[in-house]
Amino acid sequence: MIDIQNQSTSTPTKLATPVPLATANKNLKLPNPICKKCQSVVGDNFYFCPNCGKKLKEPPFKFSLSNTVGNTLVSILLPPLGFLPGIKHLLMHDQKAKILGLLYITLTIIATVITIKIMVDYFNNLNKMLNDIYLLG
Ligand SMILES: [Zn+2]
Repeated sequence: MIDIQNQSTSTPTKLATPVPLATANKNLKLPNPICKKCQSVVGDNFYFCPNCGKKLKEPPFKFSLSNTVGNTLVSILLPPLGFLPGIKHLLMHDQKAKILGLLYITLTIIATVITIKIMVDYFNNLNKMLNDIYLLG
């Protein structure tokens, strides 16, 4: 019995054509951008203009556990303040940042509703208590 799979004919030896590293890595190479504010040429991986400090593009979102925990706690414990990191993260271009932003806003809304409910209940109870006192007195 003949093993068909091993009948491979001699594979043509690849000629090592030297590919310039620059073109291999950067297929979408754009000319160096120019700062809109001071017109100086900046590197295409720059987030801020080194000359005038103008923001050129959104820096990549860096996930930080301590920031995430902090923002989550702010959203839950200090309800209205959670909207600040929430909106800030929603405006970022990074998908993960947007999800975190939605999380903070959702937590803030839930915490706000719970806080309002607790306050309304508290004032209703207080009102009832005061009414009882007046009725008794
Ligand atoms: Zn500039």
